[in-house]
Amino acid sequence: MPFSLAIIGAGPAGLTLARLLQVSDLEITVMVFEHDASPTARPSQGGTLDLHTDTGLAALKKCGLWDEAVKRLRYDGEELTIADKNDTHILHMTGGGGPKIKSKESDGELDYERPEIDREALKDLLLGSVNPGWVQWGKTLQRIDPQTGVLSFRDGTTAGPFELVVGADGAWSKVRHVLTDVWPQYAGVAGFVGHIARPNEEYPPLSRTVGRGSYFACSDGKYLSAQRMGDESIKVGVWLKKEGSQGESWPAKIVVACGDDEEKLKDKILENFHDWTATQRQFVKVATGFRPWPLYELPVGEFWEHKRGYTLIGDASSLMTPFAGEGVNKAMRDSLELAARLEDALKANGDVDEAVREYEEIMFPRAKRWQTATMRNKDGMFSNEGPVTFLVGMVDDIAEEMGKDLSKGISSWIPFKTGVWCYVVSRQWIGAWRRRLSGMIWKEE
Ligand SMILES: Cc1cc2nc3c(=O)[nH]c(=O)nc-3n(C[C@H](O)[C@H](O)[C@H](O)COP(=O)(O)OP(=O)(O)OC[C@H]3O[C@@H](n4cnc5c(N)ncnc54)[C@H](O)[C@@H]3O)c2cc1C
Repeated sequence: MPFSLAIIGAGPAGLTLARLLQVSDLEITVMVFEHDASPTARPSQGGTLDLHTDTGLAALKKCGLWDEAVKRLRYDGEELTIADKNDTHILHMTGGGGPKIKSKESDGELDYERPEIDREALKDLLLGSVNPGWVQWGKTLQRIDPQTGVLSFRDGTTAGPFELVVGADGAWSKVRHVLTDVWPQYAGVAGFVGHIARPNEEYPPLSRTVGRGSYFACSDGKYLSAQRMGDESIKVGVWLKKEGSQGESWPAKIVVACGDDEEKLKDKILENFHDWTATQRQFVKVATGFRPWPLYELPVGEFWEHKRGYTLIGDASSLMTPFAGEGVNKAMRDSLELAARLEDALKANGDVDEAVREYEEIMFPRAKRWQTATMRNKDGMFSNEGPVTFLVGMVDDIAEEMGKDLSKGISSWIPFKTGVWCYVVSRQWIGAWRRRLSGMIWKEE
């Protein structure tokens, strides 16, 4: 009998795993159970994702999808601007190749690259490559019987038992219940995401500010993001540090208070950005379709006791906020690691349970490293010092990835991090004065 495996969820993690098992040519029965009613049931799958060399991109290569992937990857989307509330551009990196930095994990052979891909394009690419007979739509897992291992779905049907059930069912995973009682917690950051459909034609200054990639601005516990999508539109996100249950329910409450009046909703959002520049506020004024979005995360370093027959990949195993851009990369790397171990074990008639245990032992410390970096970015971006702490943290992350020791310094007497700190603070100070002086000459709005 072929080995039977169920994957719950057809997101990036589940589909990558399914594709990798398909190309491995194993004698295996794979069934992917997905909550969405059909491949097109959720047309807007969210924003743009940056894929990294050793994770998302490596997984696409192993999936045999590289030639198709490069048609969708946007290397010019690597362009990045980081600013503060005075629109002082503290960091600007060009796209289309960007700065090439050797990556520690790739034996120094591969470049450090982070092309963007729309979430929908990634899903289409993966889905189009998976045997259609493997994916069952409209199957929302509700429960796994602890005794029999039978899966029960919301539509009243059941399936299984399976020799292995892989939870790739995202933040609110139902498979996680079998392994641990831990549940995602509100991350203390809530906001809204909106959309500018035709920025090039209708709002050229905003379009220029974003360039081909991403514009991120943070100050005083607030954060604005504007990201170019594959169809030239711009996704706008506004996030605020708001602690506790009041913070968690803040976006939903103002949506209810404003009813269908989106202009009123935008005014409410903008009350929080009253001292930001006219250009930055305009991103919110002209965007439409704002959706409330409180963010959630699993505790850093969370792990579960291994249990035969079950495991988790992607957000189901280690949900993070998006502030280090690692979520989808970690999800695809999990699939890569798990598929490789399953393939080795099944081809050698070996112990599949031991292979799953090995995957978990490798995945837990890696997840902890990325969760820690994400947490540091989140704390930095939403601190009162805004870009300073964020950029110093980012320099730390890149240095770690490159295997560099920053304590050595840029000279014998200035530690590198102090150099970054001084640079950012002085840029911000000059930017604030420039804005103040120009405000004396002409009005901003
Ligand atoms: C605002 C925002 C911006 C982000 N930006 C970035 C970024 O720039 N870079 C980055 O790397 N990551 C980013 N992320 C994170 C990234 O989107 C996730 O880490 C990634 O999608 C995880 O993939 P996944 O397959 O594990 O889970 P998901 O993408 O959540 O997929 C889970 C799938 O399981 C299905 N499902 C759920 N429950 C069930 C059930 N009970 N039964 C059956 N099916 C079920 C869902 O319908 C879905 O298809 C962002 C996240 C957010 C919220």
